[in-house]
Amino acid sequence: MSTGTDQSSLVDKDERNKTKVYCTFCPSKMLNAGAARLVNIEFNLPYVQRKGEGEADQQELVTDHWLVEDMYTFENIGVSHTVDNVKYLACADCERGPVGWHDLATKKSYISLSRVKHE
Ligand SMILES: [Zn+2]
Repeated sequence: MSTGTDQSSLVDKDERNKTKVYCTFCPSKMLNAGAARLVNIEFNLPYVQRKGEGEADQQELVTDHWLVEDMYTFENIGVSHTVDNVKYLACADCERGPVGWHDLATKKSYISLSRVKHE
């Protein structure tokens, strides 16, 4: 079990997102309700920063993510830098991130619950 975010209010009976998903810094909408599925994966994600501030040298272990099977599912999403097989995802409008990552091998995207706003 993970600690932190109370997930029970965020998922429906099929483990999909019950609410819309927004950027925490601006009104940009990333996902519609029901567009993603909750998964638990351990991933080291760099801390949030603005584009152009340089590489983040600190990472945070995040475990709870919205799995998005297809990039076209996103309402809005921006891409940041690529490291190995991973392309980091950021807000399409204010460019803050990463909010998650896109796996270039599997083509699946993951949005970290702790990096977005649910409404
Ligand atoms: Zn934003």
